[in-house]
Amino acid sequence: MALEKYREKRNFKESPEPAGDAKLVAERARKNKGATPRFFCVQKHLASHLHYDFRLEHDGVLLSWAVPKGPALDPKTKRLAMMVEDHPVEYGTFEGVIPAGYGAGIVMLWDVGTWTPEVEDVDAALKKGDLKFTLEGYKLKGSWVLVRTKGKWAGGGDRSWLLIKHRDDWAGDVDIAEFAPLSVKSKGDFADILAADNPDIWISNRPASGGEAGAMFERIIRRALEMRGNVGSEGSVGSRGKRSQGAARSAKGSKGSVTTKRAATKRTTATRSSGTRATKTRRTAKNP
Ligand code: MN
Repeated sequence: MALEKYREKRNFKESPEPAGDAKLVAERARKNKGATPRFFCVQKHLASHLHYDFRLEHDGVLLSWAVPKGPALDPKTKRLAMMVEDHPVEYGTFEGVIPAGYGAGIVMLWDVGTWTPEVEDVDAALKKGDLKFTLEGYKLKGSWVLVRTKGKWAGGGDRSWLLIKHRDDWAGDVDIAEFAPLSVKSKGDFADILAADNPDIWISNRPASGGEAGAMFERIIRRALEMRGNVGSEGSVGSRGKRSQGAARSAKGSKGSVTTKRAATKRTTATRSSGTRATKTRRTAKNP
C-alpha cells in the first residue's frame, strides 16, 4: 500500500510532518499519470546526520533519496543517494522541526521546482536503475541522472544510487550547497527555522524532552548554530548580530566560483535569497 513504510516510521501525534493519505495518492496517481513536468524538491535535513532529501513526484507520491553530501553541479562529482521510503506529495513543501522520533531534527526546504523525465517510461527506468531527467528548480537546473550502483557503494543493496549532473550549461564547479545554503521557503537557516517553530528555545536553549532524545536535540541545536558561525560562550543565542560571520563565510565562498556563462546570469535568481542576505550582513560586519 502506498506510504505504508512512511506511516509506519512516524507518530503523527508527535511529528508535524504530513500524515499522507492513500486515497489522495491514488487520486493523484490517476490524475497526473504521465503528466510533465512534475513536482520536485530537496529538503536539507539536520537530523543525527546532516543530509539532503531529494524527491521526485511520481505515481502520486514523492520518490525519495537521502543524499548525504547534497547534489553537486560538477559532472565529475558523483553523489551517493540512498533510496528511502516514498513520501506524500504534501511533504514536498514541509519545513519545520521534528521534535522527536524518526528523523528528529530540523527540515529546510532547500530547493523546489519541477522535473521532467528524459525517458518514455519512468517505471522501466527505475527498474533498470538508470533515470535521466531535467530539473527546473531555483538552485538545481538542467540534466541529471540517478544510477543504481548494485550495492557497490556503502553496502546499500539495491537502495544505493548515485546522483550525477550531466554536462550542460547548468553544470559548473560551484559548491551549490555552500553557495546557496538557505531555505527557498523562509529564506532562513536551520537556526531561523528552529526559532520560528519555538521562540522559547532561544531563551531556555533546551529541547522540550530530556533523556536521549533531548541530548540528541541539544546536539542538533548546537550544530544549527555552528553552521551559522554563532556559538556563544554558554551556547546562548540572544546575540543575533554575531551571525554575520557565518553569512560572510558563505558570501566569500561564492566569489568567482560560477564558471559557466549562461549559468552565471541565470543562477543569480536561484541564489538571490542567500546572496542578498550574505552581502547585507557582510557589510554590517565591515562597519559594525
Ligand atoms: Mn531525511
